[in-house]
Amino acid sequence: MQEELNQSRWNNSRRLYEEAVSLMPGGVSSPVRAIKPFPFYTSHARGSKIVDVDGNEYIDYCMAYGPLILGHGNDAVKKAIEGSIEKGWIYGTPIELEIEFARLITSIFSSINMVRFANTGSEATMTALRLARGFTGRDKIVKVEGSFHGAHDAVLVKAGSGATTHGIPNSAGIPADFVKNTLQVPYNDIEALSEVLEKNREEVATLILEPVMGNSSLILPEEGYLKEVRKITEENDVVLIFDEVITGFRLSLGGAQEYYGVEADLTTLGKIAGGGLPIGIVGGKREIMENLAPAGSVYHAGTFSGNPLSLSAGYATVKFLKENNVYPALASLTEAIGRGLADQIADSNIKADVEWIASMFCLYLGDKPSNYSEALKLDKDAFIKLFWKLLERGVFFPPSQYETCFVSTAHTQEDAEKTIEAVGECLKGL
Ligand SMILES: *Cc1c(COP(=O)(O)O)cnc(C)c1O
Repeated sequence: MQEELNQSRWNNSRRLYEEAVSLMPGGVSSPVRAIKPFPFYTSHARGSKIVDVDGNEYIDYCMAYGPLILGHGNDAVKKAIEGSIEKGWIYGTPIELEIEFARLITSIFSSINMVRFANTGSEATMTALRLARGFTGRDKIVKVEGSFHGAHDAVLVKAGSGATTHGIPNSAGIPADFVKNTLQVPYNDIEALSEVLEKNREEVATLILEPVMGNSSLILPEEGYLKEVRKITEENDVVLIFDEVITGFRLSLGGAQEYYGVEADLTTLGKIAGGGLPIGIVGGKREIMENLAPAGSVYHAGTFSGNPLSLSAGYATVKFLKENNVYPALASLTEAIGRGLADQIADSNIKADVEWIASMFCLYLGDKPSNYSEALKLDKDAFIKLFWKLLERGVFFPPSQYETCFVSTAHTQEDAEKTIEAVGECLKGL
């Protein structure tokens, strides 16, 4: 594939990457960015387009892996950040915007009475798990195979996404003694979940899952699965954590919980919630949340927690989403892309499939998976080939079969048509 690639289109990026690998492990700040043989370096981005340092422009479906539901450089968000910068950017004291943003979030999610602001989605899930353990006084946690909840010890077991892409689903450096308390169940498998909870009766603090899996390709819940998950966790006094770092404000304003009509005990938010700046949020029922320090004895703290810039960008984004019902238009554009891709697949002789929900879609090179072990059968090497062919045609899909494509309000019908055509051409040449 490297031989086929006309690398001269990316001379500046290639040169930068050669420099980077001696200064940063793998040349990057986060593994998924280390595309083989080299990633493109971005110069700037606007709306649905991202431009690299060689002047190539792409229609962007990576969208920074999820935060940018309003597209790059959205004016309302930009104005909010600029307004905030004018007043200084960090104080180490509470600010009024924390209260306003907390009110906004609790008005949107009926399962959330209180929130704690943090800096990343990883920090939010780490804190939610600690909170669930502190609240229940139990050590064990259950996660779903292939779900990704960030890069911390308790959840780096069959962790999907970047870890799977790079062949290291279980990270080194994590004591076996620690992860013995992390139990795994396959997604879409109620029996397996019942069994694990039965076997570990009164020992499991919490079940954490992505209600829609977005880090092992895109995997949707089967009919009734989430409602059944809610029922079983309730029966076993297990705290149910929905990790809505991707799905929050994405599937609908109220995330997967509104979309599927299922309420979690704790919810983690991030990505869109920061409008493109770093954020993580833990939210949930008052009786659980009040166990967080300083109200309670489960510790969490951070110099940058609730920082004014992230809150400004996040608040402006969520407020925009609340005041402008963007979801029907996003869903119909995404459906148009999905149907277009399905037609192209049917016209090709490639074994492939496509799935979409709200403003997320995924092209599978193989059979549409219903859990992680099925997702592992997808042809990830062919996907990278497809990724480069699409780049040559001006379309940027996230560089892994285990990621999901995101559509923003900045994407147009014309973008969709160009994308469908490009995918058709690339599938024929695979
Ligand atoms: C991205 C992601 C995280 C981690 O968020 P960071 O801000 O990257 O730490 C956690 N959970 C899910 C479902 C995610 O997609």
